[in-house]
Formats: sequence, structure tokens, C-alpha cells
Amino acid sequence: METLRERLAAVRDRMARAAERSRRDPADILLLAVTKVFPADVIREAYDLGLREFGENYVREFEGKAPAVAGLAGARFHLIGHLQSNKSKKAAELFQTIQTVDSGKLARRLNEAGTPLDVMLEVKLSHEEAKSGAAAADLPELIAAVRSCAHLNLLGLMTMPPWSDDPEAARPIFGALRELAAQHGLRGLSMGMSHDLETAIEEGSTCVRVGTALFGKRKKP
Ligand SMILES: *Cc1c(COP(=O)(O)O)cnc(C)c1O
Repeated sequence: METLRERLAAVRDRMARAAERSRRDPADILLLAVTKVFPADVIREAYDLGLREFGENYVREFEGKAPAVAGLAGARFHLIGHLQSNKSKKAAELFQTIQTVDSGKLARRLNEAGTPLDVMLEVKLSHEEAKSGAAAADLPELIAAVRSCAHLNLLGLMTMPPWSDDPEAARPIFGALRELAAQHGLRGLSMGMSHDLETAIEEGSTCVRVGTALFGKRKKP
């Protein structure tokens, strides 16, 4: 069994090669370590290896782990799972970035928490019923809503394509997200996971969200 150190080196290597192929600076691509379902010890272990940005999916789950990671200087936590507006206050306390803002109502609720918060807008670019995210057509209104929120700093767009084991399957979706961001003058693009991070980087990703390739298979939450 490989160690986390070895898996991290392999992921960084994959990222560097994809960046090189697409003539991009690897420093422009954030590796977000997705630690959902794993205990706080795993976050600490990853931190000790130099990782600083962590992704979590569930407010309640991270609330339980947060005290154990509160002392990690410079660590930043991103919410990458769907957020219900009734949990927005708690989420604004626990996270530095909310990647899954998908309504004006949610933006306003996060803003009411009164703490500075980086946000990304989750966009739904497939027709799969279960996926959350705003429709591309609703983006102008949503962007205006977020920009009117004094405490929210809009970084860019995020998307989660339908699952496929073919890393090429998401390429058109990644490309569409890049074009949408360009249309709206946004720089950040959170896209790509363990199995398709190369495709995402080739399509312009500035943040790959990697769980399995670093920490191994997850048990169901
Ligand atoms: C779980 C999750 C990931 C990580 O997926 P892996 O395939 O384990 O790398 C990335 N993004 C989101 C939104 C997730 O829920």
C-alpha cells in the first residue's frame, strides 16, 4: 500500500505534466485536498506534508472535525458540497471559501454572517436531475447578487460533471465552464477530480479537487 506522501507526489506529477502540456504555470493550479469522510487526523497528516487547502462536503461533518484542525496555521477550508441556506451561518463560520453558491438567497444569507468569505458559483452544465448548481442562464443575475454582497469575494465558477470513468467525458463541460467564466470576467475555475484532473487542467482549471487519488477509496458517509 502506498503512503500519502507517495500518492501526493504522484498527483503533483500528474498536475505538472498536464500543466506543461497546456503551457500553463503549475503555480496557477491549486490542489484542493478533499478530506470528506476521513477523520481530522488525515487532514493533519496532509498538512504535515505541505497541503494547505482542504475541501469538505458536509457542514455537520466538518463541524465535528474543526476543533481538531483549528491550530493548523495557514490551513484553509473550502465547502464543496451543496449548502442549504439554513446552514449558511455555520458554514460562514467554519469555511474560508464556499465553492457551491447557487442562488441569490444563499449569497445574501452568507453575507449576513458578516465575515469576509471567498465564494465560487456552482454551475450546472449537464441535464442530470440530481446535481445542484445554477443554470448558465441565471448567472448574470447571480453574479450581480453576489457582487452586491459586501462580505463576499467572488473568485469564479465551479462545476461537477456527471460521473463517468472516461476522463474525456467531461471535457466539453470543462470547456463550457471556462467560456462562461471568460464571458463574465471571472478568473477562478474549480473543476477536475481524481480521475479527470488532466483534462480539467488542459481546459483551464485553477483548482482541482482531489480526494481518492490522495486518500484512497471512501466509505459511504
Ligand atoms: C468528493 C468530491 C470530490 C473528490 O472526488 P475524487 O474523485 O475522490 O477525487 C471533488 N469534488 C466534489 C464536489 C466532491 O464531492
